[in-house]
Amino acid sequence: MSQQSQEQYQFIESILRQNLGEIGTIEDFQFFYGGNFNLAVRVKLAQGEYFIKWNQGDHLGLFQAESKNLALIASTNTIPVPQVLGVGQLDEKEYLVMECIPSAEKKESYWSDFGIKLAHLHQTTTSLGHGLDYDNFIGAAKQVNTWNLQGVDFFIQNRLKYQVDTALYHRKIDGATNETFEKLYDKIPSIIPNEQPALIHGDLWSGNAMVNQHGLVSLVDPSCYFGLREAEIAFTTMFGGFEKEFYEAYHEAFPILKGFHERIPLYNLYPLLVHVNLFGEGYLPAVNKILDSYLN
Ligand code: ADP
Repeated sequence: MSQQSQEQYQFIESILRQNLGEIGTIEDFQFFYGGNFNLAVRVKLAQGEYFIKWNQGDHLGLFQAESKNLALIASTNTIPVPQVLGVGQLDEKEYLVMECIPSAEKKESYWSDFGIKLAHLHQTTTSLGHGLDYDNFIGAAKQVNTWNLQGVDFFIQNRLKYQVDTALYHRKIDGATNETFEKLYDKIPSIIPNEQPALIHGDLWSGNAMVNQHGLVSLVDPSCYFGLREAEIAFTTMFGGFEKEFYEAYHEAFPILKGFHERIPLYNLYPLLVHVNLFGEGYLPAVNKILDSYLN
C-alpha cells in the first residue's frame, strides 16, 4: 500500500471508530470520487457496509447541512435516503458517515414507484413559506434559504439573483447579462405559477437516484428546501431525463399544472447558473439562449 493509501486507510479507520465504536478489521473498501471536491469510500466491516464522504476542510458546514437534509427527508417517510450515522471533523477535514446503499437490479416498477414517492415528498408542505430554517449547499455552492411566503419571489431572489450576483462579483458574467436578468425577474411572475411550498430534494439528477437492495429508489446528496416542485421536475430533464413511467406516475399522484413544458428552461437557469459559478463560463451560452427565448 502506498503511503497516501496507508494514511487514507488510517483516516477511515479513525472515523469509523469515532462513530461506531469497536469495528474489527476492515474487510474491503472502494474509493469513489464524488461530484467535484469530495472523496468517498464504501467500507465493508463484519457488522455491515458503510459509506463515508469527506472534504479537505474547504467547505466546512457542508456535511453538517447534508446530514440535516438527509434527516429531514427521512422524517417524511415518503422516499428512502441513507441513514446518517455520524458527522464531524477529523484532521481539519469534515466527514459524513452513512449507511451504504447496496446496489441491486432495478425492479420493473422502479420508475413508477419513484414517481409516486417523489410526489409524496412534494406533498410535504409547511405554513412557514418557501425556504428552510438553515442554509445549505448545492454541490459546493451555497443556498440561502431565508423564508419567503411568495414562492416565485423566493425563486427569483434566493435562487436566480443570488447566483447572478455571485457570478457578477467573480466576473463570470458582465453587467449587460445582469441587466438582462433584471428584465427577466420582472417577467417571471407572469410565467411561473405560485404553488404551495413543497419539500424538494433540490439536486435531483440521475447520479443522485440510486437503486437500493429492494430494486427501488433511494436518494442521496440532497440540497433540499421548501420550494417550487416544478423546479425539481424541470431539473430531472436536464441531463437526459428519467423514464416516462416516472413522469406519468408523478403526474397521476400530484398533477403538474398546464404549460409546465414552456417553463422548464426558466427553472433550469438556476442549476445552469450554479454550474457557471462552480465550473466556469462554458455554461454561459446555454444561459444566454434561455434568456433570449423568454425576452425576445
Ligand atoms: P458528492 O456530494 O461528492 O457529489 P455523492 O453523494 O453524490 O457525492 O456521491 C457520489 C456517488 O457515490 C453517488 O453517485 C453514488 O453512486 C455513491 N453513493 C453516495 N452515497 C452512497 C451511499 N450511501 N451508499 C452507496 N453509494 C453511495
